[in-house]
Amino acid sequence: MKVLVTRTLPGKALDRLRERGLEVVVHQGLFLPREELLRKVEGAVGLIPTVEDRIDAQVMERAKTLRVIACYSVGVDHVDLEAARARGIRVTHTPEALTAATADLTLALLLAVARRVVEGVDYARQGQWQAWHPELLLGLDLEGLTLGIVGMGRIGQAVAQRAEAFGLRVAYTSRQPKPLPYPRLSLEELLETADIVSLHAPLTPETHRLMNRERLWAMKRGAILLNTARGGLVDTLALVEALEGHLFGAGLDVTDPEPLPPDHPLYRRPNAVITPHMGSAGRRTRERMAEMAVENLLAVLEGREPPNPVV
Ligand code: NAP
Repeated sequence: MKVLVTRTLPGKALDRLRERGLEVVVHQGLFLPREELLRKVEGAVGLIPTVEDRIDAQVMERAKTLRVIACYSVGVDHVDLEAARARGIRVTHTPEALTAATADLTLALLLAVARRVVEGVDYARQGQWQAWHPELLLGLDLEGLTLGIVGMGRIGQAVAQRAEAFGLRVAYTSRQPKPLPYPRLSLEELLETADIVSLHAPLTPETHRLMNRERLWAMKRGAILLNTARGGLVDTLALVEALEGHLFGAGLDVTDPEPLPPDHPLYRRPNAVITPHMGSAGRRTRERMAEMAVENLLAVLEGREPPNPVV
């Protein structure tokens, strides 16, 4: 029985599949071209895809024997869940394993944007650092500012915890009230009051372009936008405009399109700090994600309920 793993994974988790006598096909490239995915998935009973593989009905049609899609991510917006449900294919994901790592990166982006860290590093590297000056590279003081969290789930709450240590006040918006010691506001109220808006909701039809032009301009003048959720939550071109004068800056680990092409106007904004979708890129985190994906996959193939089901 064949299992397709669409990238090499850190750690030894895949050995467990081999020990069970499964044929494990691991794609070795940096990315997996669509045609190759369609070809390689044929005859597979299990699939471990990454966020960059679009797993839609066409893929599932090719993989007539497919029983489980064990996502190597918590977000499952790259998988057509309805198509999987209709075919009786189970879909699983890796919640919790990457919560701390992604929350850490969100704070890294916040500090980088607020205190102009990347501009400072470039300034020093490029030989411009000639003297200390009271007005050089002035940024935002975080203490006392309000952080508004959109999507107060696992990662949103981990970001809130970390933000408190920096003296930030926290507010949030979500569809369901939570038993949390922070004010829950409507999105509109949040945008009016927050000095920093951090996105942590999944990408769904409801959240697609949630931060459109109108909402970006409804943010406070001089505010910061952080997105470590999914690029599709933000209208990218509207953000480029908002960064020219309205917003203080943006910290983005995810973009739309993704990857962001090298000539994209966002890269020309010095107040945009962009990382290449590396929220979960801690070695231990990525190894743990692999272990979870393998456990979920094996559970389905062995007729057990997977620990982290989506479908
Ligand atoms: P989670 O625990 O499910 O939290 C997501 C929260 O979003 C839920 O609590 C949900 O709360 C809220 N939500 C859903 N729709 C909303 C809406 N329309 N408006 C406001 N809130 C909404 O998921 P998580 O583990 O924190 O992960 C969140 C997302 O982060 C993932 O879906 C993934 O896309 C992204 N992510 C990115 C990276 C990275 O590498 N950058 C790594 C991990 C995860 P309610 O139901 O109460 O509204």
